[in-house]
Amino acid sequence: MTHTLMKLPFDENALEPYISKETMQYHHGKHHAGYVNKLNTLIKDTEFAEMALEEIIKKSDGGIFNNASQVYNHDFYFNGMSSKKSAPSDTLLEWIQRDFDSMEQFKERFLQTAATLFGSGWVWLSINKESSLIIEARSNADNPILYEHRPLLTCDVWEHAYYIDYRNVRAAYLEKWWELVNWDFVSENLANHLYIEFPCDEYSGACEFKEGK
Ligand code: MN
Repeated sequence: MTHTLMKLPFDENALEPYISKETMQYHHGKHHAGYVNKLNTLIKDTEFAEMALEEIIKKSDGGIFNNASQVYNHDFYFNGMSSKKSAPSDTLLEWIQRDFDSMEQFKERFLQTAATLFGSGWVWLSINKESSLIIEARSNADNPILYEHRPLLTCDVWEHAYYIDYRNVRAAYLEKWWELVNWDFVSENLANHLYIEFPCDEYSGACEFKEGK
């Protein structure tokens, strides 16, 4: 199968002034597109040619892994931002308060982790195997799904994500990125996870999860 570049869920200039149209044109139109094109070239006539993206990530290494994972990571990153104001669902807020004490603590720890990640990488909010929320810093193209974690949100801290707009000041980018988080997307990822973890009772039809679609 041929992998395709996702369409941005907003206009290229929608996140201005926090993230410029120029950054978006390079980040989505050059970097993200480059990973998609490279992946398609590398998997041609290999055992990975017909695999879905997540399966490639779990089974490959080297260049194929790097490009596949970067496609996944960027899809996640762009879907996790919006120019529209949003708020965490009640359930997501409960989980954040349970595992980080408060939204303020969570924000501080997430941005601190992102600010101090050495070199290129990604910071994720994920659910671990014990069903706790965790913040994980992953270098280069590393990916939470390799650790059986369920990702909810990611922030790209590769320099190409912010260098045009913020030069070397990653912390300034992070503060503005936080304002752009699409909490509807994060809440929906948690709801989908809960549906898997707590399916409806097959006899009564009652569902233990409170959100969903
Ligand atoms: Mn990037």
